[in-house]
Amino acid sequence: MFVSDSVAGRRPRIRTRTEASILHADLDSFYASVEQRDQPWLRGKPVIVGGGVVLAASYEAKAFGIRTPMNIGQVLRLCPHAVLVPPRMSAYAAASKAVLAVFHDTTPIVEPISIDEAFLDVGGLRRIRGAPIDIARTLRAEVARSVGLPISVGIAGTKFLAKVASAVAKPDGLRLVEPGAELEFLHPLPVERLWGVGKVTAATLHANGITRIGQLAELGEPHLRAILGPAAARHLFALASARDPRRVETGKRRRSIGAQRALGRRHREPDELAAYLDGLTDRLGRRLRAADRVCRTVILRLRFDDFTRATRSHTLAEATDATAALRHAARLLLDTAQPLITERGITLIGLALTNLDDADTMQLTLPLQPRADNTLDATLDDLRRRFGSTAVTRAALLDKGAGLSVPLLPD
Ligand SMILES: [Mg+2]
Repeated sequence: MFVSDSVAGRRPRIRTRTEASILHADLDSFYASVEQRDQPWLRGKPVIVGGGVVLAASYEAKAFGIRTPMNIGQVLRLCPHAVLVPPRMSAYAAASKAVLAVFHDTTPIVEPISIDEAFLDVGGLRRIRGAPIDIARTLRAEVARSVGLPISVGIAGTKFLAKVASAVAKPDGLRLVEPGAELEFLHPLPVERLWGVGKVTAATLHANGITRIGQLAELGEPHLRAILGPAAARHLFALASARDPRRVETGKRRRSIGAQRALGRRHREPDELAAYLDGLTDRLGRRLRAADRVCRTVILRLRFDDFTRATRSHTLAEATDATAALRHAARLLLDTAQPLITERGITLIGLALTNLDDADTMQLTLPLQPRADNTLDATLDDLRRRFGSTAVTRAALLDKGAGLSVPLLPD
């Protein structure tokens, strides 16, 4: 094998478990709740925080159908007596900090998602703090007592289910999804509850008669693929089947992944180097997608006959997990370095992907659409997953073997 992992920062690995011990804690109507806390006359009233558009609406306002980010004209049509309050960001930041302190008093494993929500892992705390449901009750009481805000908590064995559970529990509620009861909980819910189902995907599903998560699961992945494309089908079918292997991450994150190949000392033609580079790109692209990450920066690493080294990097306009985009960047870097390679002779070629981010963060904000460019990637990933990593390779690499195993250059 010629691939080795470069681990820039290790983080605790917490996978889906049989015990429901992942908490998703989410403040209810955060900004509006802070205003109702600080200005008692607003309590019980439909409060809108915002200027031109709604940044937050109290539950009293939501009852009139008011949602973020509606404009104020729409708000006043739906609820003429709504109370409009300008935002006080410093008050929200202070409240957020105070709530985060309660989270950290609860468990060392906290993964903040935004200003008003976080995942907490309370597995392994049973003997000192009790069962997850008791820990969640204490947490809710403590946030109410010390910060004065309502917070809803979902508890489950996966992050996705915990997040859905907290949403179902709102407002000011607690919901435990017992191990074994995941599908019973999930399947009656509307498809919009699935991460990655935005307006466009929901409309496509509705047009095919699918409104509930259970219908989506029943349809099966192959049929779903025909409707949404392979990437979205795989993602949504996994969620609908309550599969979500993501860990609770504590901020220490892997910052790069890399692979390299030792070449020995003999002369290499440019197209041979390009083929090796393509092989590395294929592998890293697959690992990136398997980890649900996207990458912004591609780095080419070279070692020469005289043991000197060089790196060349290219930052993409937008983060990607598509092999074609990564390959384009890698090839550009190789072309630029070719005069140096000709001059010094190359003994090692390596590629690293850095500036990594979670693919989820994109999927949460953008409607998940099948990406035509990525269908080949998804198909190849699937073949390699099922038949092994050597099942499919580039024609240019067919007689080149696996190369030598060498430790990766430090990132
Ligand atoms: Mg919230």
